[in-house]
Amino acid sequence: MTNPFDLTGRVAVVTGANTGIGQGIAVALAEAGADIVAVGRTPPTQTQQAVTALGRAFLSVEADLGTLEPIARIVEATRARFGRLDILVNNAGLIRRADALDFTEADWDTVVDVNLKSAFFLAQAAGRQMINQGGGKIINVASMLSYQGGIRVASYTASKSGLAGLTRLLANEWAAKGINVNAIAPGYIETNNTEALRADEGRSRDILARIPAGRWGRPSDLGGAAVFLASSASDYVHGTLLAVDGGWLAR
Ligand code: NAP
Repeated sequence: MTNPFDLTGRVAVVTGANTGIGQGIAVALAEAGADIVAVGRTPPTQTQQAVTALGRAFLSVEADLGTLEPIARIVEATRARFGRLDILVNNAGLIRRADALDFTEADWDTVVDVNLKSAFFLAQAAGRQMINQGGGKIINVASMLSYQGGIRVASYTASKSGLAGLTRLLANEWAAKGINVNAIAPGYIETNNTEALRADEGRSRDILARIPAGRWGRPSDLGGAAVFLASSASDYVHGTLLAVDGGWLAR
């Protein structure tokens, strides 16, 4: 019997794969058989070691996703090395914290440009390639703040709520073209992104108290959802946000 979760022979582009959730997803996709293109501004040394140790091919594309300059280059480099692009994981993202009354334009643009604008235009470039190939899988990394308002993170909430909307829009336009566009919405995961929250004793205690699973998530917790949404097991799943949150939203 064929394994519907098998990714052997597929090529996955993962942005922000050097650390955190991106690294967890890249390694999980490689474990399922995919070759990995890691996109980011910091060398993905650890991720490369983990992926090649699994016997998968690995390509690193240096790119600052604060501008659209690298978008075409990422797809070109992937096609030049592997001849195809089957899976895109729009994971790179950042956060800025300030009261709404004091929020600056710089903190707005820095976050929205990476989390939303580059994610859309990379999906557009990858989508064109996937349509030429007959299909593909796009996974956006959303957030609890794709559902909730949050506090002191105006540009982050706007970007992640926007990314949820774009996930649905792209699914509407591309489902019939063989592309599945979905999102993973991580709960509270132990990465650089949440370092400040975890360092704040009060916030950290309050967050933990609301998580039914009784612990913060780890990057590897996102692997199963990513493999599902990247594989043929999810061929009839379009435009959904899959929460991987230890039960946070159920509260
Ligand atoms: P992280 O450890 O800070 O990783 C963020 C990744 O994005 C890093 O690889 C970072 O690269 C990359 N990145 C940021 N700005 C970039 C830019 N201008 N160009 C290229 N790459 C850039 O945090 P994480 O938690 O793993 O975050 C990954 C994704 O998950 C983000 O979209 C985040 O919003 C989302 N998320 C996280 C949580 C959580 O609890 N941790 C929850 C929900 C959603 P550098 O290492 O070079 O900075």
